[in-house]
Amino acid sequence: HAKSQGINKFAVYNAVIDGQAKKRNEIELFLRKTDFYQDLRLYYQPQFSIPDHKLTGAEALIRWISKDSEIMTPVEFIKIAEETDRINEIGIWVLKKAVLQIIAWNNKYDQNLKMGINISPKQLNSTHLLSELKQLTQNQSFNPNWLDIEITENIAMDGEYRMTQIFDLFKSIGMSISIDDFGIGYSSISTLKHFSFDRIKIAKPLIDSIAVNGKGKQIVKAIVLLAKTIGIQTIAEGVETREQLDALVAVGCEQIQGFYLGRPVPAEEFEALFLKDFTPKKPQV
Ligand code: C2E
Ligand code: MG
Ligand code: MG
Ligand code: MG
Repeated sequence: HAKSQGINKFAVYNAVIDGQAKKRNEIELFLRKTDFYQDLRLYYQPQFSIPDHKLTGAEALIRWISKDSEIMTPVEFIKIAEETDRINEIGIWVLKKAVLQIIAWNNKYDQNLKMGINISPKQLNSTHLLSELKQLTQNQSFNPNWLDIEITENIAMDGEYRMTQIFDLFKSIGMSISIDDFGIGYSSISTLKHFSFDRIKIAKPLIDSIAVNGKGKQIVKAIVLLAKTIGIQTIAEGVETREQLDALVAVGCEQIQGFYLGRPVPAEEFEALFLKDFTPKKPQV
């Protein structure tokens, strides 16, 4: 054919854009459905203390089952949900489901595992979410210590004073707060100064290079030292290899999460894989 390479490249580019537009369209349709939560699932990824490899909890990660039964990761549809008010309903769905799950596991196995849920700053503007959180504390079988709120992005964007109040509320209830994806984007050192976090989640891009001796490792070491100095915990995200785990032990990081020790999985699988060594409590008569 007479088509030049440039035109072919343009056609490929068009096809990509077309595919993206189609996907976005499908997400928007899905988010408009009244029963949209039927297509949502919660996956759970384990978190472990190191060096002893003890299970400390799980992070709840949302999934969307698309029209063609594909399991879709959240980045794209969470962003679109944030542009509408759907994120508030999704957030409450996640909160309720994750809390019921951790109540069930901790009661069944007599544990004090923590459940981490992701909350975007936009969700913190919803009074509905806050009242839902307060209501949860009335549930007799729920211990607020079991809940960890993971926050990323620019939390100060909606007014530092209001955010400080929300943090105080979480703390007064007894929940802990983690700063997610620390070291990239908006999750910065100055954020640590203004808000009292309990834990730093060190972002995966920083962990990727940690097994190589050099700057990457020194930076993670400095973050761990910084956290210890101001009295907060550290967990490394996206740990994929034994070498990374060893390096994290060496710099004194306290917890890890990553494919090396466990991928996000549905609840039944989480129980079979990660709770199998706990003895279930005898049913009370
Ligand atoms: P995140 O909170 O930083 O979650 C960690 C992400 O890293 C998850 O991606 C997880 O599957 C992935 N991950 C964990 N370990 C590894 C590893 O060893 N290697 C690699 N390559 N990846 C790993 P996922 O589930 O796709 O979630 C992406 C983001 O979507 C989350 O990042 C979080 O910001 C957001 N998100 C997930 N669930 C929710 C939710 O219920 N509500 C809100 N607002 N956001 C959510
Ligand atoms: Mg997270
Ligand atoms: Mg993260
Ligand atoms: Mg994140």
